[in-house]
Amino acid sequence: MIELQSIRVTDFDTNCYLVNRLDTRSCIIVDPGGDIDIVMSKLRSEDLRPAAILLTHSHLDHAGGVALLKKSAESQYGTTLPLYAHKEDLELLYSITKQASLFGFDSDKFQDSPTPDVLVEDDSDLSITGITIKVLHTPGHTAGHVCFYFANSKPFVLSGDTLFKSSVGRTDLPGGNHNLLIKSIKEKLLVLPDETIVYPGHGPQTDIYCERISNPFLQAASIL
Ligand SMILES: [Zn+2]
Ligand SMILES: [Zn+2]
Repeated sequence: MIELQSIRVTDFDTNCYLVNRLDTRSCIIVDPGGDIDIVMSKLRSEDLRPAAILLTHSHLDHAGGVALLKKSAESQYGTTLPLYAHKEDLELLYSITKQASLFGFDSDKFQDSPTPDVLVEDDSDLSITGITIKVLHTPGHTAGHVCFYFANSKPFVLSGDTLFKSSVGRTDLPGGNHNLLIKSIKEKLLVLPDETIVYPGHGPQTDIYCERISNPFLQAASIL
């Protein structure tokens, strides 16, 4: 049995997710964009032991805290957290400080990410600390954006900045492509079971059924 918790991080109100095993209290950290002190104190207060870091994509608000989280976990738990990311987002991942200055943040407070330990691939299954995760490559918001699907008895997907409640990800940043984003949502997400809960990178949760029938961006694209 697993549980999901979210922590709101950075000035962008990014949802950083913890996917926790109830029995062993080991957890996977998804999108630690920043505020790593808050993430670390959550781990302590919930008695969780981190096992890995997963990135839906490598924008600052999702990947900005990776370097610091790796260091903090190493000193706190004595373990090196493997980092999982898609190869088409590597350029973004290695330019965290540049992204910070572009957004007007103090780039001294950020560090570029270390090299990922695992490059994730579309339609592959990851098994991390006994939790099975399907990787869905959903380019459009960034070229290397992926969603993480958990096909348990109550299926859910971590959709990053691809699909939001009644909205979709922006595509005006470098590497963005709106038509490709809509295609990704249609082919990779709307085919998931209707009851799949969608936990996006920003804002509240929704589900696949609700978005398929009422998301205005998907209606406008007449993809039903
Ligand atoms: Zn983004
Ligand atoms: Zn974001």
